[in-house]
Amino acid sequence: MITTQVLPATKESLEEASRLLHTGELVAFPTETVYGLGANALDREAVLSIFAAKGRPADNPLIVHIYEESQLEDLCEIPKGARPLMEKFWPGPLTILMPKKDTIPPEVTAGLPTVAMRMPSHPVARELLRVCGLPIAAPSANRSGKPSPTSSHYVYQDMQGQIPLILDGGDCDVGLESTVLDLTHGTPTILRPGGVTKEMLEEVLGPVEVAGSVLRPLKQGEVALSPGMRYRHYSPEGEVTLVQGEEADVVSALHKLCREAEEDGHSACVMCFTEHLSQLSDCHPHDIGSIHDPASTAHRLFDTLRRLDDEGMKLIFSEVVPAEGVGLAVMNRLGRAAAFRMLSASDVLAVT
Ligand code: AMP
Ligand code: MG
Repeated sequence: MITTQVLPATKESLEEASRLLHTGELVAFPTETVYGLGANALDREAVLSIFAAKGRPADNPLIVHIYEESQLEDLCEIPKGARPLMEKFWPGPLTILMPKKDTIPPEVTAGLPTVAMRMPSHPVARELLRVCGLPIAAPSANRSGKPSPTSSHYVYQDMQGQIPLILDGGDCDVGLESTVLDLTHGTPTILRPGGVTKEMLEEVLGPVEVAGSVLRPLKQGEVALSPGMRYRHYSPEGEVTLVQGEEADVVSALHKLCREAEEDGHSACVMCFTEHLSQLSDCHPHDIGSIHDPASTAHRLFDTLRRLDDEGMKLIFSEVVPAEGVGLAVMNRLGRAAAFRMLSASDVLAVT
């Protein structure tokens, strides 16, 4: 076991982080999406230690982070359509798949011919990338399968004793991981929805597709375009069930499900919009932001899922958001957290 330091990002701690990265060690750092677990992307051994620290399956590729576009030339080809996107959304929460060059070790891309590239906008991530001068391979800094960490506290929970340094930059703004976009196979396709929405991409690119598995489980034998979508993901320890329907019915159904679960002796709670907190006050309500503001739900979702674990909740009933705009990213994560268990509120209320 090594000692894990959590330090605010100062000139000294950033220099220490840079030194660690140059010697093959791992450093966790904040980005505008979630905290990343970084290694020198050109150092095969360092990259392998990311997979070990996270317990991440070796066939789930990593995103490579850069400080400036000029770094791309050594690392990958730039596909058609990428330039205007980079101009508009970089630095920011958009990851673009690009055909890789040999400089990128195959461990980074899990043997795939493309590499996922991103230029984050968080000032600490940018300063780290600038000071170290390396491309940094970094997945989310959680143990594989757990909700991604949106504060250094959660990184520490998962990575304590495994990595030497966590740079603290407070809470992450977006709260969900970056949008992953494939421009290498015909129509541009969103493999993972995130803060840069389909609608925003379409303004630049024209029609954009969304991979089928974004809102449903993979079918038997279906190849995952994005390997990360194969795995149980974003899940708290408790069992999450989603409830959809008319607003008033959903609130009544959540109430009923939670009360019944408690009567059966389970620790149960609800995840609901701010507007419904008072109606559900006897159901241990967890606030998932305003019904009118899906970005607030994105911002709070992983924090809420982690809190449920800390509280030992076993049965969790949650509202849903419309799967559009940032709501698509929220429903992608919430669907997986719930293993796609979804009830209709009117069905719940019809059962007496
Ligand atoms: P994480 O870094 O934990 O946020 O996960 C990165 C996501 O990007 C995972 O869902 C990966 O499967 C996906 N990804 C990374 N590289 C590629 C690639 N070359 N092709 C397809 N998906 C990728
Ligand atoms: Mg992840």
